Amino acid sequence: MPTTETLLIDGQGVSASDGGTFDVLDPSTGETIAIVAEATAADIDRAVASARRALESPAWGGLAPAERGRIMWRMAHAIRERAEELATLESRDNGKPLRQARTDVQVAARYFEFFAGIADKIMGHTIPLGPGFLDYTVREPIGVSAQIVPWNYPIQIGARGVAPALAAGCSVVLKPSSEAPMTALRLGEIGLACGLPPGAFNVVPGTGSVAGVALASHPDINQLTFTGSVEVGIAVARMAAGNVVPVVMELGGKSPNVVFADADMDLAVAGVANAIFQNAGQTCSAGSRLLVERGARGALVERLAAKAKAMRIGPGVSDPDMGPIISKRQLETIERYVAIGVEEGASVAAGGSRPADRSLRGGFYFQPTLLDGVAPGMRVAQEEIFGPVLAILEFGDLEEAATLANRSEYGLVAGVWTRDINKAMALASRIKAGQVYVNTYGAGGGVELPFGGYKKSGYGREKGLESLASYTQVKNVCVKFA
Ligand code: NAD
Repeated sequence: MPTTETLLIDGQGVSASDGGTFDVLDPSTGETIAIVAEATAADIDRAVASARRALESPAWGGLAPAERGRIMWRMAHAIRERAEELATLESRDNGKPLRQARTDVQVAARYFEFFAGIADKIMGHTIPLGPGFLDYTVREPIGVSAQIVPWNYPIQIGARGVAPALAAGCSVVLKPSSEAPMTALRLGEIGLACGLPPGAFNVVPGTGSVAGVALASHPDINQLTFTGSVEVGIAVARMAAGNVVPVVMELGGKSPNVVFADADMDLAVAGVANAIFQNAGQTCSAGSRLLVERGARGALVERLAAKAKAMRIGPGVSDPDMGPIISKRQLETIERYVAIGVEEGASVAAGGSRPADRSLRGGFYFQPTLLDGVAPGMRVAQEEIFGPVLAILEFGDLEEAATLANRSEYGLVAGVWTRDINKAMALASRIKAGQVYVNTYGAGGGVELPFGGYKKSGYGREKGLESLASYTQVKNVCVKFA
């Protein structure tokens, strides 16, 4: 039986102003798991007004920073207490294997924990002007933070933006994706149960074209964090610019994993496979381009193909190696890209189609896929596919590796696999990306590490201490005294 879900505005579960709802499907089976209230522009107005009141109220705006931190510690604790329930819900909503959903839930808890500890350490400076002056800076909350997030890591990405915003003293309106809104609603409830006053954290599921547009163009938000595609990001940034609202843009990627012949190949095979097949490749930072040194290519492709073919595909909650794609539409996009790759001259070294298993027919599955013999100019080497499809290219030397790695309009993450520290350091400094990993890829969610894009992967940084810059604004006070 599908559950019924409301919006969370001003501390209350409420229906949409026009009574509208949308169905949320389990991508593993195609069945409806929930009927969710669909926020209208009027609902977004109510949510923003509520966030504004919270910001100006003694209950939230007037709270001591350490007290904000305490509420957030409780949220981290509550998320961990409900970990299994939240992971199962995330797995059904998004399709990801249960153990990946469990990791996501732990990472979400970790965001609240990490930023809870920072709430009372957001400090300013004193600036020496000489005798007779005291000049200091204060980092004030930027105000009402609007957050628009995608469907691929709903609880993780929700927590990633909400936690630093609350730590800084902002109030939040979170719009999850209509494809996977469930755990964002649970986060909102957890916040209330842990002591957030009404309006400090509102959750308004809805479509991009109505709720998303209403939120991004709202004249009374003070900041916007957008995580999603480049195309929508550009539209959203334009809307925010109309109200002079600053934006954090976390967009797509086509991240390279560069493997040298001298790499520890056991480590590289595991790392490269995980970087593309985790979450069925629906990860902004997926290592979707493999750049391999010429002499090592044959053996590496063979090992990756064996690994891909051995992966168990199935419903997320049965905890397979890989779950389904989020939707039929996204599945068809992936199929289209594989066909384009083959037309362009690439060869399929593993996968390339939907699995034959008839028991999976109801869901939106695609096999882990390797496209070998990809040339740098091909569309499959340049465009984000957002599925379990690895484009494999080769290079001759470090110079060519650096050129290929940077031959992309994106610049989110890169991986380098080598035993030679000099090669690793040379590439780390030359690759134009917000984050470079050496002999690893991803680091347990990377809560502590600043994350964000170069080039069309976006701007601004989330995660780590860097993210506080987006949720605070600096006031300078200059005092002259006799
Ligand atoms: P999307 O851009 O279609 O949607 C993202 C969010 O924007 C959703 O909540 C959606 O409802 C909303 N939206 C859609 N149209 C809108 C509009 N016109 N105005 C306002 N809001 C609108 O992206 P998606 O399909 O949900 O997610 C996949 C994309 O997200 C990929 O490109 C991926 O790389 C990117 N992503 C980036 C990061 C990162 O941190 N850099 C993380 C995850 C996903």
